[in-house]
Amino acid sequence: MLEGKKALITGCKRGIGKGIAITLAKYGADVVLNDIEISEEDEVAVEVQKLGRKALCVSADITSQDSVAEMFAKIKQTFGGLDILVNNAGITADAMSYKMSVEQWNRVLAVNLTGTFLCCQAAAKLMMEQQSGKIINTSSIAGFIGNIGQANYSATKGGVAAMTKTLAKELAKKGIYVNAVSPGFINTPMTDKIPDEVKQQMISRIPVGRIGEPEDIANVVLFLASPLSDYVTGQTIQVNGGTFM
Ligand code: NAD
Repeated sequence: MLEGKKALITGCKRGIGKGIAITLAKYGADVVLNDIEISEEDEVAVEVQKLGRKALCVSADITSQDSVAEMFAKIKQTFGGLDILVNNAGITADAMSYKMSVEQWNRVLAVNLTGTFLCCQAAAKLMMEQQSGKIINTSSIAGFIGNIGQANYSATKGGVAAMTKTLAKELAKKGIYVNAVSPGFINTPMTDKIPDEVKQQMISRIPVGRIGEPEDIANVVLFLASPLSDYVTGQTIQVNGGTFM
């Protein structure tokens, strides 16, 4: 489905991003694997290469405009262009709003919102040259229904959904589609730190009765990255087992 396509996935050394990179490679894409520190020895790169696809590893902090510019220069030099950008990198720094430091607030905004914007901007410039492209951002259920202790995180994820609509309007006539995926509760290192008792309570509120796996998100990203979604832009698709409708 994605044969001959080149896809960049940010923050894909583990968790949801790793699942997305492997799924896109499985369906034919060559991939650029980004994380703060990532190398060909990392499991995600090994898995992609086992599938017979190219894996270009680029260590870069997406909060730095210079690092993002260098990463895209490397992509242009190695792959000649980019067809798919998946903005997956994201962090949490939880605290009740009345105890949250400005540093915690800024740190989460820098990665989830500014980092996502910087990669969208750099990708759009490359994709405009070729008059085609698919950008998939990562929102969260927390951006729609809120979550105690996540004033910073929920603000960024609501912001990602709003930014996605604006970019979709700006870029539609240039052949570039911009959508977002909004995961519910997914089994990754990010959610590993939640105590078991709280996890069980959360699972009991999911209509389909189980926690999501990275592949559940990756399959929707695959749809948004493929020609099957060629009449879909500006949307944020909820992938949460029915938790929020
Ligand atoms: P994770 O913490 O397991 O993985 C995130 C990856 O992003 C890590 O490998 C990390 O090193 C990388 N990263 C962080 N900051 C970066 C930066 N500045 N530059 C480059 N890479 C960076 O998280 P996950 O659970 O796999 O989440 C992936 C995405 O899905 C995030 O955007 C997250 O907010 C979102 N999400 C996750 C859940 C969930 O339940 N796990 C729910 C909703 C949304």
